[in-house]
Amino acid sequence: MRSGTMKSTRTFITCFVLCYILLLAFSNIFNRQLSDLDAHTVSTTGSNDCQKPRDKLLGGLLATDLTKVLAQVENMWSRISGMMKLTITIAICFVLCLVLLLQSSYIFNSHKSDLPMSGGLLATEFDEESCLSRYHQSSLRKPSPYKSSASLVSKLRSYEMLHKRCGPGTDGYKRATDKLGNKHENGSRSVGECRYIVWLPMAGLGNRIISLVSVFLYALLTERVILVDQRKGITDLFCEPFPGSSWLLPLDFPLTDQIDRFQWGHSHRYGTMLKNHAIHSTALPSYLFLYLMHDYKKHDKMFFCEQDQNLIGQVPWLVAKSNLYFIPSLWLIPSFQTELIKLFPQKDTVFHHLSRYLLHPTNQVWGMVIRSYNAYLARADERLGIQVRVFSRPAGYFQHVMDQILACTQREKLLPEVSTQEESKVTNTTSRSQKLKAVLVTSLHPEYSENLKSMFWGRPSTAGEMIKIYQPSGEKVQQTDKKLHDQKALAEIYLLSLTDNIVTTARSTFGYIAHSLGGLKPWILYKPENSTAPDPPCVRAMSMEPCFIRAPRYGCQAKAIKISPFVMNCEDWIPGLKLVDAPNGSSSRTLIVP
Ligand code: GDP
Repeated sequence: MRSGTMKSTRTFITCFVLCYILLLAFSNIFNRQLSDLDAHTVSTTGSNDCQKPRDKLLGGLLATDLTKVLAQVENMWSRISGMMKLTITIAICFVLCLVLLLQSSYIFNSHKSDLPMSGGLLATEFDEESCLSRYHQSSLRKPSPYKSSASLVSKLRSYEMLHKRCGPGTDGYKRATDKLGNKHENGSRSVGECRYIVWLPMAGLGNRIISLVSVFLYALLTERVILVDQRKGITDLFCEPFPGSSWLLPLDFPLTDQIDRFQWGHSHRYGTMLKNHAIHSTALPSYLFLYLMHDYKKHDKMFFCEQDQNLIGQVPWLVAKSNLYFIPSLWLIPSFQTELIKLFPQKDTVFHHLSRYLLHPTNQVWGMVIRSYNAYLARADERLGIQVRVFSRPAGYFQHVMDQILACTQREKLLPEVSTQEESKVTNTTSRSQKLKAVLVTSLHPEYSENLKSMFWGRPSTAGEMIKIYQPSGEKVQQTDKKLHDQKALAEIYLLSLTDNIVTTARSTFGYIAHSLGGLKPWILYKPENSTAPDPPCVRAMSMEPCFIRAPRYGCQAKAIKISPFVMNCEDWIPGLKLVDAPNGSSSRTLIVP
């Protein structure tokens, strides 16, 4: 039986029993009072002697007044018919029962809110059944060594309140959407505290998630409400993250028709407006289109300048199109940096905490995760994740990629070597005494795991371990926006994040999410050049943060990049920037390659 149903049944039975006991007790009391009353009625008509024991009982205090009141109540009670008495008794029982029910539901809810190991990160007012991953994830994970700061927890709680006040369906939302997009609308018109940023899903799932988390942090920092375009199936992937409100952009949002036309030349694109001197503090539009895609231009990148942030901050609506993890550049904006340091004292934990807060797979996706985990990973002594993404065209199976995977995993002692002798000695060891290592391979192409499987089946490993290879799916081609395809991809990202060690492919956002969510510093497979396995084949990452692949290096951020110890070149893409929890006193000069 499901836990929620069990709890309701338990509560109901408890209430029923209590109600029954109360009914008995009440009828007993009333019967006794009735007989008392008879005696009292007789005595009041005669002498006052009968009142004396009661006066004593009340300790003499207010005894006379109380006695009078009681006498009146008893008098009234005696005049009420038997049927009426029963009705009153039942009504009292019903009210008591209701109080008990409410109380027990409060107790159960507070039990629900007991989100183990979330460190206060997660809001508590959710229904467990509607989003199991929110409650059950921590039981599959080792406790995260990275604790969320009190500032982050309190920031999230106040964000949730803001979202409740301004989310869809509120007066704040209605006021803010009123006349939105109207040609003559001036953005400087006050819309109160409700300002928004709309996130549009772009590219593959990994790209979407890194940009979603980036936009959410920007919303937190600027006290805007994040709303997500729901037309590309986000509801099939994630639960609602904020209590008592929705993060889905209503389908009747006034700019919906325009959203799909948000492209390069859009008149409200921030970069274009800036270039054409069409925006300044006295002439602000009611909305701005932020183009933060991999091919964005110089003027779009001005978004990361302090001065521009002052201007953008006054515009009530922002619509962001991005496929990038732009958080490292937010750290380089001075007015944000002070707050970011408080929110994330461990600087390389930004994605780790925010993704665990914001992203909770739907029950359908979570079912896939649980079934795979229980069948293939749960019983292993150690779990290794290998994410193989092939970017070359055409993509598929390549021997040099296979060689690279083996070279990396064996060099880093993540996988054992196999015996070179054909006729290897067959040991009598029972499986119970052998260590079991489960290897989760994720790739569009099934051949990589098939190869590994036949390799460890054909010959024993030199370390004597049992190696079990598992690949949940092999979709062959990317089919973004197909419900089941995207759900499988998400389930695999989560499965990878549940491993102990992880090998990922350079510049793959799919891999970035898996390792950062899991709190893992990955071994990154370098990009192969000229169809040969690179040497060295892989590198251990310094930080678990994703890479901002197209970080602006020049202009207003150039100096900050040079002097900030907490950004470094990405291991897998030198022009990219990533956050690192730089040891005290270390300088970026040692980390940044000029
Ligand atoms: P990136 O292109 O590697 O940065 O990652 P994205 O997630 O943005 O885009 C790749 C898309 O291809 C994914 O979203 C999936 O749709 C698909 N894909 C790539 N690798 C895998 C994989 O290992 N498993 C599954 N199920 N899908 C994958």
